[in-house]
Amino acid sequence: MSQPAQRGQPMFILAEDTERTQGDDAQSSNIQAGKAVSNTVRSTLGPRGMDKMLVSDSGDVVITNDGATILEEMDIEHPAAQMIVEVSSTQEEEVGDGTTTAAVLSGELLSRAEDLLDDDVHPTAIVEGYHEASRIAQETIDEHVVDGTVDDEQLTQVAVTSMTGKGTGDIGAEPLAETVVDAIRMVETDGVDRDSVDVRTQKGASSSATELIEGIISEEEPVHENMPTNVEDASIAVLDVDLEVRESNIDAEYNVSSVDQLNAALDAEANELREYADTLIDSGVDVAFITGDVDDRVGSSLATEDVLAFESVSDDEAESIARATGSSLVGTIDDLEADDLGSADRVRVEKFGEDELAFIEGGSNAEAVTVFVRGGTDHFTDELERALNDGLDVVTAAIEKGGVVAGAGAIEIAIADAIRQEAASVTGRKQLAVEAFADALDVLPRTLATNAGMDPIDALVELRSTHDSNGIAGIIVEGQNGRVTDPLEAGVLDPAAVKREAIESATEAATMITRIDDVISAS
Ligand code: ADP
Ligand code: MG
Repeated sequence: MSQPAQRGQPMFILAEDTERTQGDDAQSSNIQAGKAVSNTVRSTLGPRGMDKMLVSDSGDVVITNDGATILEEMDIEHPAAQMIVEVSSTQEEEVGDGTTTAAVLSGELLSRAEDLLDDDVHPTAIVEGYHEASRIAQETIDEHVVDGTVDDEQLTQVAVTSMTGKGTGDIGAEPLAETVVDAIRMVETDGVDRDSVDVRTQKGASSSATELIEGIISEEEPVHENMPTNVEDASIAVLDVDLEVRESNIDAEYNVSSVDQLNAALDAEANELREYADTLIDSGVDVAFITGDVDDRVGSSLATEDVLAFESVSDDEAESIARATGSSLVGTIDDLEADDLGSADRVRVEKFGEDELAFIEGGSNAEAVTVFVRGGTDHFTDELERALNDGLDVVTAAIEKGGVVAGAGAIEIAIADAIRQEAASVTGRKQLAVEAFADALDVLPRTLATNAGMDPIDALVELRSTHDSNGIAGIIVEGQNGRVTDPLEAGVLDPAAVKREAIESATEAATMITRIDDVISAS
């Protein structure tokens, strides 16, 4: 038994190789790490933001402007830095846009917290002040939500706002935004069924194009080359089966001793396969989507009867096809009944360069919509896919999660103003933190201005004075230039939910990091 520690002697409670940083050092290292992460994405903010090229260990290249994607692709290890990455990924999951905004704001809140700590403001006062300011921010957002139901024009503006500067290529944000709004309107009944809208990309077109497909696109190719490639008014079966010989009769029976027996075994196989094909054909199926493998002989029999069949269809795809066409997912071929079949207006197979795609259009049951994008390279279609998903998410958020607010930094200026006004009534040092929060918000319009090539200080001064006289003012970026004006008039709108979420999660991460004064890491 070890002796109890004597007074004045150190007592070791941690393993020998544990690393520990405490007090100011811990705080400062965490804050530096958080700021560093946030700084990496700063230059991508807004329509004139730059792109980043990220190269992985294995040499894969991603070119993007999307905050969440950048932070996800970077190999960030520092635990405090990792928290900023989480802010951005939570933002992506919750509302689908505003990931750079959230990361930049987190960094700025940390930077201001650092100054306050240097001035001997206690972390608790900072945390309380930030929470107080965040509450005022949420109220201000609510007050600034544009009145009335959001109409198609506004939704298109929201989509354009989220997609400008996102590598939309020769298509431009406007037509893409219209496609996005059309797609969302198609899956809107009581609410928006966002999951029913898919984005599919196909490289290989010389110039880019998007098409709205009222249905699903599958990457699977027909089982047999003689199958039809265009079926109208199709009865559809979705099967979770393998259409192969169950177990080879020849392997199983090692007592095959004569040619007759071998032939009998082969016949039995052929019969089994023939039966699969017949069951499908007799049920009146025109098109079958099969998750398992299909024997060539089955494929050939189906082709003879003009049945179109796809094999190795993924489970997800099988489910969406079943849902859209009103088919049941059948697990045993013998159980297939007329009731299980669904239908679609049209199933067609089209060739794009090397690839073949199947289009399942006009499913009888649920609306399923696919935004189909073509472009020259994978880098381009990948970034376009991210932009379209942002567009789809913001339109959904605007409809479902409480409307839209003025973008282009205007809402941030309004929030900062409201916070400064209320700060006066906050007592003690907490007031300094409330004011610091307002100053931190300025980073967003300031960064927009910087990225648009404007002088950030002049822009901020003009913004504030225009805000004071007009009530609302943002930095509108058009082409190469930026000017201070009313974003509502210029049609730069963001979903209120994107701003709410960004402020909430940035506050949370910054206060959490500020509160830490001891880092104990096991090696
Ligand atoms: P995030 O990842 O935060 O969405 P973005 O790079 O998409 O970052 O930039 C979003 C910001 O850019 C929003 O504040 C939005 O209002 C603003 N913005 C978008 N279009 C314009 C425009 N034409 N002029 C000024 N600001 C714009
Ligand atoms: Mg965005």
